[in-house]
Amino acid sequence: MKNDIILRGIPASPGIVIGPAFLFEESGFLINGAAKPIADTDKEIKRFKEAIKKSKRELEEIKKNLVKKLGFTKAKFLDVQILALEDPWIIEEIIKKIKEEKKEAIYSIIEISKELFAKFKEIDDPYLKERASDIKDVTNRVIKNLKKKEEKPFEFPEKKIILVAKDLSPSDTAQLEKEKVLAFLTDLGGKASHTSIMARAIEIPAVVGLREITENIELGGRIIVDGYAGVVVVNPVEKTLRNYEKKRKHLLDIEKELLGLSDLPATTVDGHTIDLSANIEFSEDVDSAKKHGAKGIGLYRTEFLFLTQKELPNEELQFRIYKNVVDNIYPETVIFRTLDIGGDKLFEGIEPEQNPFLGLRGTRFLLKRKDIFRTQLHAILRASYRKTVRIMFPLISDINELMKAKSILREVMDELQEKSIEFDRKLEIGIMAEVPSCAILADKFAKETDFFSIGTNDMTQFLLAVDRTNELVAPLYDHLHPVVLKTIKMIIDSAHRNHKWVGVCGEIAGDPLAIPVLLGLGVDELSAAPILIPEVKKVIRTLSLKESKEIAKKCFGFSTSKDVRNFLSNIINTKLTSIKELISEEVESS
Ligand code: PEP
Ligand code: MG
Repeated sequence: MKNDIILRGIPASPGIVIGPAFLFEESGFLINGAAKPIADTDKEIKRFKEAIKKSKRELEEIKKNLVKKLGFTKAKFLDVQILALEDPWIIEEIIKKIKEEKKEAIYSIIEISKELFAKFKEIDDPYLKERASDIKDVTNRVIKNLKKKEEKPFEFPEKKIILVAKDLSPSDTAQLEKEKVLAFLTDLGGKASHTSIMARAIEIPAVVGLREITENIELGGRIIVDGYAGVVVVNPVEKTLRNYEKKRKHLLDIEKELLGLSDLPATTVDGHTIDLSANIEFSEDVDSAKKHGAKGIGLYRTEFLFLTQKELPNEELQFRIYKNVVDNIYPETVIFRTLDIGGDKLFEGIEPEQNPFLGLRGTRFLLKRKDIFRTQLHAILRASYRKTVRIMFPLISDINELMKAKSILREVMDELQEKSIEFDRKLEIGIMAEVPSCAILADKFAKETDFFSIGTNDMTQFLLAVDRTNELVAPLYDHLHPVVLKTIKMIIDSAHRNHKWVGVCGEIAGDPLAIPVLLGLGVDELSAAPILIPEVKKVIRTLSLKESKEIAKKCFGFSTSKDVRNFLSNIINTKLTSIKELISEEVESS
């Protein structure tokens, strides 16, 4: 085998590790050979039904353990598998096939699962596409339970290993033990898959979508995993090993040093402080936000609760989860974004649209589904009692939308008051500024809102006419485009003229390159993913407000995002070498 084989995939979870490869063989789908004929189909159907029951019990047990380990919402993905085991159509189709084919059940299970697997894989929606691995996972479990002899459980070698697999199911991933697995690598998978989500949740470095890693390793052979860059080196030579070992130690030192900033404020060298808060998707992310030094929650994407439930969450469930978040971060603030459904975030029952990003999204959806809106507002308001809560409405593009949303909020407040249910009547009400119309009329909006939070993810796609999810136009999508920066300035200036404050919660707020500009433009708050907060804080604490203003001014002289990037990279390179290394792509191999 050749040395120093470099494979590039999708960075799913950060970290650098070096260790021996261990191939995780899949069962079930890889079974080849003819299925044995059977004489007694009734007996085989009974065996099949028992295997289904056993599999369901096992999954429920795993789910219970996961809820304990990772919290409620992150374990919800197992429901897809449990649901498949309860699906009458699937069960009936398999039974029909057993009767018709008169072959052992395993054959019919694989045939029906393959059909389902192929159907899921054809779906355009990346989230649903990833559910194909749930089908495979649950099929493998039923097959395992069908086998007469108990299979030897998966055994790990004595030493810590790097697990390599064609694909790894979410439940396999959730059961990986940090004491035994240094990292995992897969041929398949995407960043939005539950396997990747799990990797980040259990903090195991991972690279997915490597396409041919399973064909490029030798069992026990040494590999390097760079989860920051999404790079794997198979059979590294001594020089490459030394380079990565050096990068690993160096980055660990930097991360440790950056975590040391947790308790310090986001203050520039000339004494200007801004609020640096966290974006969260699940209630249990608050712990990570606190660990990484966030000052409150700047964006709680409440829709993720709705996306991981089989049914719409009722007021009580929402209240309990919201209260947990609010209590956990108190005395700091939580900004609840009301349900931002639509676009690429859909739950069952929502009609597909021609142009979903321009369709019935965010507040537009809530104004159509007032029942859902009111229930959520009830829950948020109840959680606000004696705590620091703010509410903001997503995708506001017209003043009338804002006025209607505020009027519904007032009605809900009145309802609570009538019932003597306590809440914070004075809580601040803000809007996401993520549509160009909102930026252009920011002066008018500022009179009707307590604050703006700029959503550059959507704003960039609308300003540049580039779909944020379409890889074909991905090189054109850049939040550092001068047009985006000028729009941010427009919103901040209008807000400040009206004595209102402005936050930024799009991905730009976690991009170290962008921080000098955002500071220079006068932003009052930044909200980013928890793991990015230490880097952002480091940049803020290295700069002065004065030089940031000059940097922002210079950016307006450029016509392309490439020029802005080059200019800002030079600044980070010279002033913040350590940060530069943390976000750098690759280490030299020999
Ligand atoms: C944004 O659009 O920038 C934003 C923060 O919201 P989301 O990414 O959830 O659309
Ligand atoms: Mg948005």
